[in-house]
Amino acid sequence: MLDYLIVGSGLAGISFAEILDRNHKSFKVVSDGSQVSSIVAAGLINPVILKRFKLAWRAKEQMALAKPFYQGLERKLGLPLYHPMRVLRRFASVEEQNLWFEASDKNELKEFLSHNIYKNANAYIDAPLGFAEVRHTTRVNTQKLIPAYREYLMKKEMLLWEKFDFDTFIIKDNHVEYGSFKAKQIVFCEGFGIRGNPYFNYLPISGNKGEYVFVKALDLKLDQAVKSDIFCIPEGNDSYRIGANYDRSDKINEPTIKTKNELLKKWESIFKCSYEVIDHVAGIRPVVIDRRPIVGPHPKFNNLYVLNGFGSRGVLIAPHASKQLYGHIENEEPIAAEMDIARFTKKHYSG
Ligand SMILES: Cc1cc2nc3c(=O)[nH]c(=O)nc-3n(C[C@H](O)[C@H](O)[C@H](O)COP(=O)(O)OP(=O)(O)OC[C@H]3O[C@@H](n4cnc5c(N)ncnc54)[C@H](O)[C@@H]3O)c2cc1C
Repeated sequence: MLDYLIVGSGLAGISFAEILDRNHKSFKVVSDGSQVSSIVAAGLINPVILKRFKLAWRAKEQMALAKPFYQGLERKLGLPLYHPMRVLRRFASVEEQNLWFEASDKNELKEFLSHNIYKNANAYIDAPLGFAEVRHTTRVNTQKLIPAYREYLMKKEMLLWEKFDFDTFIIKDNHVEYGSFKAKQIVFCEGFGIRGNPYFNYLPISGNKGEYVFVKALDLKLDQAVKSDIFCIPEGNDSYRIGANYDRSDKINEPTIKTKNELLKKWESIFKCSYEVIDHVAGIRPVVIDRRPIVGPHPKFNNLYVLNGFGSRGVLIAPHASKQLYGHIENEEPIAAEMDIARFTKKHYSG
């Protein structure tokens, strides 16, 4: 009898798996590659919602957990994964500058928003009103982390690379069965794939598609991420990631020419250098109506759990939400009300 089964190996699945591993629990992960949000993500940890000049939900608490968590994964996997990454916000108007300074005076934002304006010294960027800096921003390289963690699990024979087959899944009073495996409980971490889960598809998780175009721009020589309408994030070797967009209508993981053209148009309006497109990727963010994760037990089957709804901030949320779920299952600790699955039971679950 295993302690746990986990379905999914994106940020949610591997964060929960890592907590189990650190606590010497026995488990297997069942996952396929049908969803790619975590691999496509830029991996930025940015504590401030720049559109609304607000601190992201529980950002300080989550940052304090995220740093040692990802640094622990770096040591375990023997890979550099967690890097500081400066984020400069380009001002498009004097009004925007004024809003920034107003926000940077607020107590909760003081330590995260610079009080200086940086003049633009890069001849290939059009930024006459300069930039300000978001402080304490970091980046987790999810393109390396996710495959490396899957490989770690594979080597230990803890990963079954397949679509979870609900036809061979049986729920008993004190355990669950999947094929030849028995486990005390199962945690579903399927991202937008939750739409195909008959036990949890009542939850109001929708998909928000995002795409990035990768370009090579030999002259640009930019070390920091620049945020304007879109992000331009340095990827090393003179290549840059441009994006992402937010699209609620298209739920297919394939990149589109339409979005590529839109992203490049925005990039060209600010970055005045020659470039070549080298890649283009897309993923679906699992988003919840109230922008909070969904964590906790199924309303009817108490050995089924969900860990989902990380939206556009999965890197920051994953260690925090996973820790909450683990504490709840193992030690009966309460789940924070804002992320507790119970908030949707009355309105959305019909039994
Ligand atoms: C373009 C883009 C940019 C982003 N940038 C950032 C960023 O900079 N910073 C940040 O913090 N977040 C970012 N995000 C958000 C972040 O990627 C998500 O919050 C996070 O990836 C969600 O993780 P997840 O594990 O819940 O889902 P996913 O990454 O989608 O993982 C779900 C896993 O479950 C598997 N699965 C699903 N159904 C089944 C099934 N039936 N059987 C077997 N396996 C199954 C999938 O194949 C996958 O392995 C970005 C997202 C996108 C799309």
